[in-house]
Amino acid sequence: MNLQKEIDHLFSTQLIEWELLRENNKQFENDVKYKSLRWNDQLEVVLQYNSDRITSATASVNETDIENRPCFLCAENRPAVQRGIPFLDKYIILCNPYPILKNHLTIPLLSHVPQLIGKKMEDMLTLTESLEDYIVFYNGPKSGASAPDHFHFQAGLKMDVLLNGENDLRSCLTIESTEKSEAVELFYDVYNYLKSYQPNEEEPMMNITSFMDRDKYVIHVYPRKLHRPWQFSTKGKAQLLISPGALDMAGLIITPRKEDFDKINKEDIEDIYAQVSMAII
Ligand SMILES: [Zn+2]
Repeated sequence: MNLQKEIDHLFSTQLIEWELLRENNKQFENDVKYKSLRWNDQLEVVLQYNSDRITSATASVNETDIENRPCFLCAENRPAVQRGIPFLDKYIILCNPYPILKNHLTIPLLSHVPQLIGKKMEDMLTLTESLEDYIVFYNGPKSGASAPDHFHFQAGLKMDVLLNGENDLRSCLTIESTEKSEAVELFYDVYNYLKSYQPNEEEPMMNITSFMDRDKYVIHVYPRKLHRPWQFSTKGKAQLLISPGALDMAGLIITPRKEDFDKINKEDIEDIYAQVSMAII
């Protein structure tokens, strides 16, 4: 059986046996709202109102808080009912019970090691080539990962708005190749280039998405200079609870509060991207 079919099967059985996944998927299908903001024919951002994402959006990434909480990606802390599909003998493919995308997956390494892309781009592309209907994504430890202490990828079914790449709102570096090894090599060129901008970071701040465009591997790297915009931590009317990760950078902005979904405008979005995206010359 191919991996996509195995995943479909995993979802259909987990939806029966796992109540949280079933309830949250029902909510995702019925209650999540979308709104499109357009700058021109090519440039669009889609807002997603998704109240289930409040925990993830407001997760503390403070080191002490992280050390003191049980890691939700380690096998011993995961719900007994959550089953997965082994991948490359070192990952497990799990249904994410707080979906942003259809068939939202979390793919943690089996071992508890920090979120650093390091030498794992090849794994990311091996996953990508097995999932042609999916977009695979990675959030850096200071760029939206809610478990910066446990390495993981995520994936979900593609949406057009996520595949566009470069636009006027934020930086995006695109790597394309029909050869996996070449795509990996080009990625590390980009990685090292970004490292020269942020020599003191353990890894350059970034989000990464990857997907197949027919037989071509496509990698989008979104360089970052800030984890959360000022609107996140301010109080009162100016507050916007937006904590950008890979999907937000690609063009699908998640608003866990209805009031933010209703009031956010194009100027806010331009301002948020300008704060968190790092301009590359
Ligand atoms: Zn862990």
